[in-house]
Amino acid sequence: MNVEPLNDTTVLVVGAGIMGAGIAQVAAQAGHPVMLFDMRAGAALDARDKLAASLQALVAKGKLQAEAVAQTLARIAAIESLQQAAGAGLVVEAIVEKLDAKRGLFHALEGIVSATCILATNTSSISVTAIANGLQHPGRLVGMHFFNPVPLMKLVEVVSGLQTNPAVAEAIYALSKRWGKVAVHARSTPGFIVNRIARPFYAEALALLQEQAATPAVLDACVRAAGFRMGPCELMDLIGHDTNFAVTQSVFEANFFDKRYQPSLVQRELVDGGLLGRKTGQGFYSYAEGAAKPTINAFSAAALPPFNSLCLHGSGALAEALLAALPSDAAVQRAPDSDWTGFAIDGCQLRLTDGRCATQLGADVAVFDLPLQGPGSTPGSAQQALAWAPSARAAAAWTAQAALWLQALGLNPQRVADTPGLVLARTIAMLVNEAADAVHQGVCSADAANAAMQLGVNYPAGPFAWLQLWGAPSVCQLLDALDAHYRGERYRVSPWLRQQQWSA
Ligand code: NAD
Repeated sequence: MNVEPLNDTTVLVVGAGIMGAGIAQVAAQAGHPVMLFDMRAGAALDARDKLAASLQALVAKGKLQAEAVAQTLARIAAIESLQQAAGAGLVVEAIVEKLDAKRGLFHALEGIVSATCILATNTSSISVTAIANGLQHPGRLVGMHFFNPVPLMKLVEVVSGLQTNPAVAEAIYALSKRWGKVAVHARSTPGFIVNRIARPFYAEALALLQEQAATPAVLDACVRAAGFRMGPCELMDLIGHDTNFAVTQSVFEANFFDKRYQPSLVQRELVDGGLLGRKTGQGFYSYAEGAAKPTINAFSAAALPPFNSLCLHGSGALAEALLAALPSDAAVQRAPDSDWTGFAIDGCQLRLTDGRCATQLGADVAVFDLPLQGPGSTPGSAQQALAWAPSARAAAAWTAQAALWLQALGLNPQRVADTPGLVLARTIAMLVNEAADAVHQGVCSADAANAAMQLGVNYPAGPFAWLQLWGAPSVCQLLDALDAHYRGERYRVSPWLRQQQWSA
């Protein structure tokens, strides 16, 4: 197949729902003539009218030029029959998420468009290989996966199925960039990049809720403190538990029920009960009028408690960040070769979690979560919420002291159950592990995973940036501890990550 550059080509968008309307807007703003089709009579015209109203509202606010908007709208034609689209050089499909419907549509289109027209699908979960099955020219079908809302979200996953012609994927990659997007290549595997790597962000919170380790408000605060725009519970409420559960279920099933992706009973209950989140007024939180958002305990900064001996254990960026959080005149010794990171204070230990529970580590021990406010940043800069847990065998005096020490380091300590890997450490480790496995299986490059997670779901950093900060040995140690604690497949270390650990 001869793949022509798509610079001025006519774009047919099929499906005039949320995604199709956004794709039509972006294509028209980039200068393409656009045809918009929907099987529901009048839907394409309605979508165009809605788009016109929203763009004109932006003109009224001074955010867009009236002339540019008029030109954009003049390029979009709502069509009532696919037969009118014979001249299209690119089709972007954004219809219902059903394999048979998508296959049927592309089969019909092959009888209408030219043999050189590229066929792109915006599917978020169906195999691109499967959609192409049965086409006369399966090589021209490619995934072009946008994120919602299309005009604002920068990422496009360019997804290649088994038969996708690499030149077709390259043409869509180049076109996405022309449209002002950041494109990443992905191999067609369940969840592609973002929806796969993001699973543990929700799954770890749900697992912690299932074992009653913390409240949704505490989990959200601890995750937000690391620079995420939203915590997992509030984000699931926003996405809708039905949608989030369906994506998890589809990734789980598509991976032949690999336990790593097992959906959660906690979320299943919410779905069964119709507590779908914001859209029904109740999920983890209530969205009823006047409902107060639950708050967490906020501790103000404390002075360093009195001590006789203080020693900082460990080395590396996190140990240095802990040191920097101490007052400059604090008399602190160093034990850089120690096999743990944190402070020994008068015979008690305040340790960065390594995945083991505090109770497992001893009596006068408390563990605290990864103080991660984006790579390279230091704890102590803000009142950031940080999970911690004392040993069940700790004396009451040490438990009180440990919390005061965390406050003195500028943290906002949130006591949670003595659970392995606490909140953030286990979440970040699992995100890194999933990204590592995606690279291991050739789904994407490490750079693509970093870009995809930052631009597709607004993570404050990419998983491989966290890996660099934290180090493969520590991430593997944490996952191994989780694996030993829970048994089962969920926390098994990616072979790629294990290689990094051995090479470190
Ligand atoms: P939507 O329900 O808002 O719109 C789908 C539209 O397609 C409807 O207007 C419907 O009438 C039309 N349609 C259905 N079958 C059709 C057919 N055979 N021919 C022509 N039109 C048909 O859905 P959406 O949220 O815009 O999602 C569309 C696609 O984009 C799905 O594949 C979805 O998985 C994917 N996607 C959605 C999101 C999201 O956040 N909504 C994000 C990325 C990808």
